[in-house]
This record gives sequence, C-alpha cells and structure tokens, in this order.
Amino acid sequence: MLNKQFLPGVAYFCMEYGLHEELPIYSGGLGILAGDHIKCAGEKNLPLVGIGILWRQGYTTQLIDDNGKPYDVFKDIDLDNLKDIKVTVNVKIGDKDILCKIWLVDKYGNAPLYLLDANLSENGENRYITNRLYCGSEHDRIAQEIILGIGGIRALRALGIEVDVYHFNEGHAVLGAVELIREKMSWGLSFEEAWYKTRNQVVFTTHTPVTAGNGVYSHHALGCTGAYNGLSYEQMSQIGGDPFSITVAGLNLSRKTNAVSKTHSETAKKMWGHIKDASPIIPITNGVHRKTWQDSEIIEAFENGNDLWEPHLKAKKELVNEIYKRNNKNKLNPDSLIIGFARRITSYKRCDLIFKNAELLEPLLEEGKIQLLFSGKAHPQDEEGKSVLPRIIEMSNKYPHSVAFLENYDMKIGKLLTRGCDAWLNNPRRPLEASGTSGMKAAMNGVLNLSILDGWWPEACKHGINGWQIGHGHECCNQDEHDANSLYQVLLREVIPTYYDNKPKWLKMMRNSIAASTWKFSAERMLTEYYYKMYSQEEALKEIAATISNIHNVNYI
Ligand SMILES: *Cc1c(COP(=O)(O)O)cnc(C)c1O
Repeated sequence: MLNKQFLPGVAYFCMEYGLHEELPIYSGGLGILAGDHIKCAGEKNLPLVGIGILWRQGYTTQLIDDNGKPYDVFKDIDLDNLKDIKVTVNVKIGDKDILCKIWLVDKYGNAPLYLLDANLSENGENRYITNRLYCGSEHDRIAQEIILGIGGIRALRALGIEVDVYHFNEGHAVLGAVELIREKMSWGLSFEEAWYKTRNQVVFTTHTPVTAGNGVYSHHALGCTGAYNGLSYEQMSQIGGDPFSITVAGLNLSRKTNAVSKTHSETAKKMWGHIKDASPIIPITNGVHRKTWQDSEIIEAFENGNDLWEPHLKAKKELVNEIYKRNNKNKLNPDSLIIGFARRITSYKRCDLIFKNAELLEPLLEEGKIQLLFSGKAHPQDEEGKSVLPRIIEMSNKYPHSVAFLENYDMKIGKLLTRGCDAWLNNPRRPLEASGTSGMKAAMNGVLNLSILDGWWPEACKHGINGWQIGHGHECCNQDEHDANSLYQVLLREVIPTYYDNKPKWLKMMRNSIAASTWKFSAERMLTEYYYKMYSQEEALKEIAATISNIHNVNYI
C-alpha cells in the first residue's frame, strides 16, 4: 500500500487536457489521457498538480459542408468553469516580456489544474499566442512551449507548490527542464551539475511513433524566440541535437522515460536506441478514468450478475436517438449490429479501410445487416487527413439507414459511442498506434473490440473470447490490402454470425470484455504503476529492499 504522507509531490505537464466536453482544450488521446490522469489523482487525493495552457479558442469546431468537406470554426471558449486566482508570471519571448495569468480548474473532481493564459492586453499582439491548440508557425509553437515549460515552472514557484518530480507528458514541456537547469546555474552550479541534478527530478512520457508527431525545431528559431533561456548553442545541442528534437531532449533531460503500451515500448526503443545518454524506456500501458467512461448501469449489471443486454440496449437506443436528433438524416436500427469507429482523422488510422471492397460491403449496408458509425476530427492543417471524409459522407448519403458520420467529435460523442455501439473497430497502420484508449472505454462497457494487433490490444485480446483480432500483426508493403481482407474475414465469419445467430455467446463475450478491462485498463492501475515505476525515488526503494533482503538472508537457525 502506498502511504500518502511519503508520496512524492508531482507536477504533471501537458499541452492539452480533456476533462469534460464543456472545457474543450484538448485535441485527442493525449489530452484525454492527461485529463484521466489528473481526475484519478484528484479522486485518490494524491499530491499531484497539473500544468497546462488555457486555449482561448480551444482546438477546432469542425463541421462538414454540403460537399462532405470538413471546415473549421474557431469559437471563444466559456470561462465560467475556471477560477481566477490572481497570480501572474512572466516569460520572455524574443525580446518581449510576456505576462501570463494563471487560472485554476478544480470542478471535475480532478487534482488542481493550473492553466497559463497569455491573452492579456499588456501583451499587445502577442496576446494571441495561446489562442489555438497545435496551430501556428514554428515561432508560435515554440512560444507556446516556452509558456508551458518555462512559464509552468515559474507558476509552481509563484504558487509555492513543492515539487519532487516533474512529469512531462510528451515533449512539449521540455523547456521546463531548461528552466530547472537555469535556476540551478543561477545558484552557482555548473551546467553539467545542473543538468545532472535536473535529470534526477524529471520523468518523461513519449507518445507517438509517427515521425511528424515528434516536434523538431531549428536552432535559429529557438534562439530568436528565447527558448535558450540563458543556455548556449552548444548546451542546447547537447540536450536536443541540431535540429532540436523535443523527444530527444525529453530522453536526455529525464531519469526515466515510459512508452504507453508494451508494443509501443519496443517501437520506441528501436526509434530512439541511437540516443547515447537517453534515459531507459519502460512500458506503462495507458488506462482510462472509469467514472468518466464506464456506463454505471452496465457495470452495475455486470457486478450483480444481471442481464447485460438491457442496459446495453438502453445505451444503444440513446445513441441512435442522439444521431437522428443531431443530423435529422440517419435513422439507425437499434436491433441490428452497429460498428463504431471514432478517433482523430489522420492517415495512419485508416478510417475508410472498411470501404476498400465495395462489392462485398455494399450489399450488407443495403440490407442493414451492418451499420457503420463514424466520428472524428482532422487537424485543421491536415489536408490529407481531411480528404478521406467526403468518401464517408458519400456512403452515408447513399445508405443513410446504415452509415452515419457525426461531425465535431468530442468527449460527449466519445462517451455515447463507446457505450452505445455493439463493436468497436480499430485498424491503424502498424506499428503506429502507440496505445489507443477509445478501445479501452469500449471494452469496459462490453462493446466488443475488433482490432489490429497494435497499441494496447495485444495485451488484452483473446480472440473470440473477449473481442477479435484482425490479422496477425502483419507489417509489410501491402498492409492495406492484407488488413482489409483480414477485416472482412473476421466480420463475415465471426462478428456477424455471432451477433445474429448466437446471442448467448455475444453476451458471454461482453462479460469477458468487461472483466478483462475494468481494472487492467483503468486509470487507477495506470497511476499505481506511475507511482511505483516513475515517481518513486528508486534509489530509496532499492535501499529499503536491500535492507529487507539482508534481514532475510541472515540464517537464524
Ligand atoms: C478516447 C478519446 C480519444 C482517443 O482515442 P484513440 O482510440 O486513442 O484514438 C480521442 N478523442 C476523444 C474525444 C476521446 O474520447
């Protein structure tokens, strides 16, 4: 058992937080994970605080036009859910002093979350730096990272919060460690000593195996924006290379790094194995916050051994009604199979893979034997990602009773879908899915996963028992074709026959799915692992372990 009194104080840094749909300062899985992390810490009363940015216009409200093309609208978010604590800090961006106001979010049962906000009249035209998440030029992105990292450390000092461990969830906050180094050098330490001591205070989580997801900046841009923070070119290159990679910096500035699933840990070791002084990479598989994502009626029926179909059908009907209410177009049938697919729309997630073989699929859609429900947002600047949407909308226009797309994917839609569908489809191009958490939400609600063996799924999948695997973990040049064929095979031979002809087996699989995921892929399990493997001072633990084993080694007989 962890003794709270002796737990290290943790400051958790992340660019985005998904706590609730009414505070839309998140883009996708990274933010949802951060939100679930601090909600679980708050629930367990753990000494952890979150540091983030108040995105005045959030990410994007993404709607679909008459031609099936997505377009972005940027709306000011509602500040009612925030507390003004009347604290400000300064950071330098270029030659300008930027004032950041700190807001507190504590209304979602979460550990305290402090959000930095540069939208103040004092900042002139720089007030827009923190307007939109993941938007802007290289200069803007670095400025945002200065605010999160350097501003975040200064916020902790201004608030008088004692911190033992700084946890950088993804590389966006690594300039925070540069600030820790600067602080120590101002006390008289050499750069090397300050770096060494800082490493001992920092842990790092790496997320994406997609190259473009790992931010890289030119030293010219870093120098201009003031990201050096008093360090020299040589020192900054030692930390992050030239060009400067925030992931390399994260590996070099931390005592330990974790990847977000077992398969991702192997991929990350291969990706970053050449970094000489990198901290060791271990796996800690993601988990989700149960109170947010698990339907209370489903888990109650599960725990009492009651029929699962009744609460499942209730959630499914809610979903079907909500779709029709939202778009007045798609009337799905709650008595037929609904397969859900909702995630960020980006090329490697292959959201249109199931349409690859139209001859095979379309009769099933015509007949209403399978109904496909999609949702997702593409990054506002990702034209390739956006280009798949018209195809899905076209199918939805052709088969409105069996294909639907919900625009502006958010946590509300996420909740509806991961409890109201029958099966949950996931077919990323391997090995690019680091973890994937929507499948965990589905699994906990008895929504059966039908997924490629990537991310978290190899740790959970028992084929035909608690869900299905697509293929056998194939990685090759014709992966799309290969995976599409495997998908049709499982769909036609297993998913459809089980749903229509063997309800008892389906119900048994729902039960197995809930049993296999409720603890194993919960935020509670994840946080316990973070405390044991990342936050605890291992040295101290090893010492205790050595003392104890010495006692055991003494021969008393
Ligand atoms: C859970 C969730 C995600 C992450 O899903 P993945 O399966 O990891 O892609 C993204 N967006 C929202 C709104 C979610 O609820």
